[in-house]
Amino acid sequence: MPVTTPAAPVPAPSYSSSGPVMPQDFDSLLHQDPEVGSILLAEADRQAGTLQLIAAENFTSPAVLAALGSPLANKYAEGYPGARHHGGCEQADAVERLAADRATALFGAEHANVQPHSGSSAVLAAYAALLRPGDTVLAMGLPYGGHLTHGAPGNFSGRWFEFAGYGVDPDTGLIDYAQVRALARARRPKAIVCGSISYPRHPDYERFRDIADEAGAYLIVDAAHPMGLIAGGAAPSPVPYADVVCATTHKVLRGPRGGMILCGSGLAERIDRAVFPFTQGGAQMHTVAAKAVAFGEAANPRFALYAHQVVAHARVLASALESEGFEITTGGTDTHIVVADPAPLGVEARSARERLMAAGVVLDTCALPYGDARGLRLGTAAVTTQGMDEDDMTRIASLLARAVRGEDDPGSLRAEVGELTEHNPPYPG
Ligand SMILES: *Cc1c(COP(=O)(O)O)cnc(C)c1O
Repeated sequence: MPVTTPAAPVPAPSYSSSGPVMPQDFDSLLHQDPEVGSILLAEADRQAGTLQLIAAENFTSPAVLAALGSPLANKYAEGYPGARHHGGCEQADAVERLAADRATALFGAEHANVQPHSGSSAVLAAYAALLRPGDTVLAMGLPYGGHLTHGAPGNFSGRWFEFAGYGVDPDTGLIDYAQVRALARARRPKAIVCGSISYPRHPDYERFRDIADEAGAYLIVDAAHPMGLIAGGAAPSPVPYADVVCATTHKVLRGPRGGMILCGSGLAERIDRAVFPFTQGGAQMHTVAAKAVAFGEAANPRFALYAHQVVAHARVLASALESEGFEITTGGTDTHIVVADPAPLGVEARSARERLMAAGVVLDTCALPYGDARGLRLGTAAVTTQGMDEDDMTRIASLLARAVRGEDDPGSLRAEVGELTEHNPPYPG
């Protein structure tokens, strides 16, 4: 009788609305390597016991963590399914095909490359596929929310390409499309990049496409932040407009740390070769498996509900912070991101962040679209995964305002944070 090897079962999407449960305890690791084990335990405590408002972070499901901790972590799989440089890649092939199929179905794209190690690696590969060193690229300027890969002097992008930066209208905080068009006409870029680390509104992808067509430029959308909102139908999709969409899988999308690229079939081969062998070696197959799990979860209607809640929560947070005296860039948000200027409270952003840290609130500062001062960047992806609701957002805004003003002592603020997180543990049980 022929022996058939069944395909390895891929963990079924199992995110429940009551919240994920930690799949493994740390007991065995604590026993084997107390030094590392105790650090990981302390990190789990930190994540559970403080308020996670970093806009780029989220809590992955136990199924995603299980895939990350699976034996695929041991497997070398250079190349692509059906064309590997190593033997024994049957299950690696199966899981990569599944991840790519789920990604193309989820986002309505013709082709998906799920191998990029990170969002930056995805952008590097997109540039490698479409550009030559020295080419001109038009992207959002770093002072307005452009990412490091959009021309920062210390990044490969700033070193190898000529970047021109567009900005936002200083009064409205919104992308100045007339300026984008004028810069595209004047500089004739080979590619236009649309994407940001702190822009709280939806870019007008159709307008970017139009400007790119007029300039004869590729349109690369770096959707690292909104990709999860796009998956859940809570933000417009760039897929119909962009030549290439780059993204992370670990932000609102709630998958493992990693990157992905979507494109039309016409660019598929160039993108694939730009990822491997041009910019990467062997893919991290345990991460690819975890991406497949995350795409499966994101295809569930519960994820659409989540994505819409994330935006609703950000809107409540923005308006409550405004009532507390913060100035909110663009006057609000369409996404998970809120950028709040603490200047009206008489406190500069870096010291505001320190006061918030002392109170157990974790967030970032970011550039403001006007002046030299920085603002506070907040996101609602993680707290929404924890199960917090709109009332909690109002409580958080009040807590933030009191912490920044320095009115209440950090101890009592920490107790308030503890109450919020105790009611909404990221990994109950
Ligand atoms: C987060 C982000 C990236 C990079 O992601 P990494 O995984 O940290 O490399 C790239 N572009 C934008 C716009 C981002 O927000």
